[in-house]
Amino acid sequence: MKKLLFNKSLTFFIPLIAITFLFLYISYNYSMDNYTKLETKQNSKNIENFIYTLKNNHINLLSIEESDFVNIKKICSNFFDECNKNIKNNLSTQNKQTIDIKDDSCKNIDILTFYKKSYIINEFNFSNSKNELLFQLITKTNLALFSEGKKNIKIYISIVLIFLILTLFIGYTYQKQIIVANDNLEEKVEKRTNQIRHTMKELEKVNLQLYDLAHTDYLTQIKNRRSFFLHTDNIFKKLSRTDGIISIIMIDIDNFKSFNDTYGHEIGDKILKIFASSIKELLLQDEIFGRLGGEEFAIALPNTTLEEAQKIAENIRKRIERVVINIPHTKLFVTASFGVSDSINTKSIDEIINNADKMLYDAKRKGKNRVRSRLS
Ligand code: GH3
Ligand code: MG
Ligand code: MG
Repeated sequence: MKKLLFNKSLTFFIPLIAITFLFLYISYNYSMDNYTKLETKQNSKNIENFIYTLKNNHINLLSIEESDFVNIKKICSNFFDECNKNIKNNLSTQNKQTIDIKDDSCKNIDILTFYKKSYIINEFNFSNSKNELLFQLITKTNLALFSEGKKNIKIYISIVLIFLILTLFIGYTYQKQIIVANDNLEEKVEKRTNQIRHTMKELEKVNLQLYDLAHTDYLTQIKNRRSFFLHTDNIFKKLSRTDGIISIIMIDIDNFKSFNDTYGHEIGDKILKIFASSIKELLLQDEIFGRLGGEEFAIALPNTTLEEAQKIAENIRKRIERVVINIPHTKLFVTASFGVSDSINTKSIDEIINNADKMLYDAKRKGKNRVRSRLS
């Protein structure tokens, strides 16, 4: 990203610089041309003045013919052009020119041009054939306009150049700062993102732990009452939509109180743990097992008929009978009573559980360690 930004700026600046230089070049030439034209205009005026002065003041002296004036005008014009070029190239050049005039009295005009401060001085020396000076005419042309114009253009170009360089420099510095700031920002964002990611993971873990705590029985590590009801209610609702059935087995350890009383509460806890894990081993993945409280447990069997559920309960009962609980100095055996009911003709999971509970009560009443359902 850093490099992209840099390249983008360069591609933006290069045409800008090129256009600016082109603009400067064109404006410089245009301005120079304009000043040259102005100078030429001024020179033409000077020639006119010169001719006028010559005609009016020295005509008697020189007896110059009209055709000669035309000639003089032409030569002077050329001369001024020449001067112009010299001004452009080198202001300190001196120029000297001799003009032949077809006149007996005035043979030559020596023109001497030199520069003094901001003026171009032209000295026109008229002499006869014997090279004797007849008269002298001096003209002064102000160079200020020309040189000032040239100077102004230079100042203008310098200002634009300085401005351009400054703009480039500021742009470059600013861009560098942006790149550094961007880098810092990216680094910070990455750090924060990692922190957030880490926190999210931790939060997820804590959430899972909290979920487990809220849904798991601390002693037996199976589902607690709340979780059992939640899950079975969900499955009941799903199944009732498709006319599926669910069966519930209610389990209660027989004479559990006497274990507590005889061996103590800790042994009672141990019995509860072993009892729960022994049943868990016999269950399938989708079968829900929970501790409803005390020594009461329940199993929800989705898509299981009452008959099948009764068989499963019977298997569990037999297995429990054989479970050996080793405690110091002796071995314990427990039995449990089972009440089984299904979802046929029921409206809620509570109704099935109540029915199963009634069957469990019946099993207890009939002598414990047995399975009861409406089928048996
Ligand atoms: P029945 O065969 O009729 O079910 O008799 P029971 O003794 O099993 O039933 P009762 O309801 O008389 O006694 C249940 C006992 O379970 C009473 C209570 O102290 C004990 N109990 C309940 N929860 C726990 C527990 O978490 N740990 C231990 N160790 N005992 C518990
Ligand atoms: Mg009980
Ligand atoms: Mg009991």
